[in-house]
Amino acid sequence: MLGCVIHGQGDLRAEELPVPTPGPGQALVAVRYGGVCGSDLHYWRHGGVGDFRLREPMVLGHEVVGTVVSYGDGASGPVVGTAVAVHPATPCGVCPECADGRRNVCRDTRYLGSAARFPHVQGGFAAQVVVPAEQLRPLPTGLELRRAALAEPLSVALHAVRRAGDLRGRHVLVTGAGPIGCLVVAAAKAAGAGHVTATDLLPEALRYASAAGADTVVRADDPSDAGWPSEVDTAVEASGVAAGLDTCLRLVRRGGVVVQLGMLPSGQSPFAGNLVVSREIELRGAFRFDGEFDEALELLAAEPVFDGLVSAVVPVREAESAFALAADRSRSCKVLLDFESPGHHA
Ligand SMILES: [Zn+2]
Ligand SMILES: [Zn+2]
Repeated sequence: MLGCVIHGQGDLRAEELPVPTPGPGQALVAVRYGGVCGSDLHYWRHGGVGDFRLREPMVLGHEVVGTVVSYGDGASGPVVGTAVAVHPATPCGVCPECADGRRNVCRDTRYLGSAARFPHVQGGFAAQVVVPAEQLRPLPTGLELRRAALAEPLSVALHAVRRAGDLRGRHVLVTGAGPIGCLVVAAAKAAGAGHVTATDLLPEALRYASAAGADTVVRADDPSDAGWPSEVDTAVEASGVAAGLDTCLRLVRRGGVVVQLGMLPSGQSPFAGNLVVSREIELRGAFRFDGEFDEALELLAAEPVFDGLVSAVVPVREAESAFALAADRSRSCKVLLDFESPGHHA
């Protein structure tokens, strides 16, 4: 079977891997689609993401959906053949964060396709993967696998929106209109935001933000753009660039909330920290998610608008061109790898 393996910076290979066998408590899933995430692109282009560096070859991917093939000893879950999405996180359950109910920041979590620990946790970009059976979620009625592949990034967006607090009737600024920023736009609207303004450097990205429900879109590099709000209630930074955080701090009202969701470069970041003090701004981080995964599946089932954010579906054997496409935001929003073997096409 084919899998998508990162061997080091710039060395991505679609290669033959052995079919794994599910052990106790585990399920074997035939993967249909895997969404290419910003973190996958970071491993490919930079050999790491944030403070996590590649130290051995790793199957990438944590945004996977497919069908149940079999279970290992003592494992149970949706019946074999059921379409499922895979929750990518296995929190430890015993650390102080898990005890506090903040499993998304568990200090000892296992996350599919992540080099945060060593040996790395192998990911889901393979035709068949073994995962803990309890991480399978059957798709709600009416949700097809293609749209369901957005469940993981939408969960990230829903968690950021939760961190932002009550958005009903609020004006929300979202800086960065990549796939995550666009999903934050949709999640904020679903949470009752009164007006959502999205910014990005690229007109193509702003078109996706509009499709996701943004009321106003603004060119981030154009101070004279008529769309700039004078003030917003809440801001979500989704570009991972310090300039975006700076914009959020300057535009949020006094006492407002700024959520940093985009992964900033490791080390120090320049931004107007004095405003956090003088305007008593609440600056909050948002990292991954936990229970939002189930909420994401329900929202995806209810909202066809999400189909517009899947910009391409590419066979796994062309993984490198899929990654190049995903990295070029002037040509793509969310790119999916397709793991279905050619013989299976109807
Ligand atoms: Zn992701
Ligand atoms: Zn834990």
